[in-house]
Amino acid sequence: LLTTGIDLLLATPSADLVYLIGYGGHASERPTLLAVPARGDAIVIVPRLEAPRLEYLSTMSVHSYEETDDPYALLLHTLPTETARIALSDQAWATVLLGLQRVYPGARFEAAGTLLRSLRMVKGADELDLLRRAAAAVDRAFDRIVSRRFSGLAERRLADELTAVVAGEGVDTSDWGPIVASGPNSASAHHLTGDRLIQQGDSVILDYGGVLDGYQADTTRTVHVGDPPDDFVHAYEVVRVAQQAAVQAVRPGVPAASVDAAARDVIAHAGYGDYFVHRTGHGIGLDTHEEPYIIEGNELVLEPGMTFSVEPGIYLPGRFGIRIEDIVAVTDGGCERLNTAPRELKSVR
Ligand code: ZN
Ligand code: ZN
Ligand code: ZN
Repeated sequence: LLTTGIDLLLATPSADLVYLIGYGGHASERPTLLAVPARGDAIVIVPRLEAPRLEYLSTMSVHSYEETDDPYALLLHTLPTETARIALSDQAWATVLLGLQRVYPGARFEAAGTLLRSLRMVKGADELDLLRRAAAAVDRAFDRIVSRRFSGLAERRLADELTAVVAGEGVDTSDWGPIVASGPNSASAHHLTGDRLIQQGDSVILDYGGVLDGYQADTTRTVHVGDPPDDFVHAYEVVRVAQQAAVQAVRPGVPAASVDAAARDVIAHAGYGDYFVHRTGHGIGLDTHEEPYIIEGNELVLEPGMTFSVEPGIYLPGRFGIRIEDIVAVTDGGCERLNTAPRELKSVR
């Protein structure tokens, strides 16, 4: 903090809090705040009924408040510190920011993400291991789900089965609703899984994941129900080659944008440029979407230990969509794919 000019870092329940003190907390109208001043010791402000969950923090002083107390006034009085610049968790509730602005009327508030991203983006060996294991678990789920008969099933039903299979691999799926997008629905990149019955001739996008000891898995495969027609086979091959090209572009020292460009060039040259409607990827770790973002214009230089998705797609309105998504880790020599489920075009029943 001393080198950033920030006087006070405030983390609310989010991956920031998990990263800093191993506590997930509970985001609500009763705020939980980890307060880290530029000088002096950090403290935690917590509603009294949740204080027992923080007893493990024996080295940090935890201040609990009663239902009728003002938690922001408690923070102000417990930690009298310089507060010209305050960094607050990106995912803090607006009511928390408003409460803080009331007690620190002169402060300038900033997003803590810009401060914490340099720490959180580069994973340690233990974090990489959890991401690797989470990816392997969801890959095993793919093998099992594609042996299932798809035609006649509602998207939602297949999503429930996929969730059960992922959970059976020891992955926590409680916060993870998979995307199952079939037929013309698959042309909507973030389709909301619904009641449509899957049928012969459909493209089916399966975008799913889960959490292992706090670390996220996120992968996508696209399958075809029955024998695929030539136009589908062609578009699928373009996405597969684009994904491969982007993965091969991953190495330390190159900008994030160059990975996006590698996928986008392949798709554009094949004539589908207008139908690749999103960035190539997002960082992943304690959050499903975090930095680094693999997007045009992001000159952030890749470093060993960064982990992100590589997930190009083609979406033809009214017809079909295709996406292939793997999580990769930047290594000293290049890139490691954490997801290794087959990427060849697969027909299901
Ligand atoms: Zn997505
Ligand atoms: Zn995904
Ligand atoms: Zn993703």
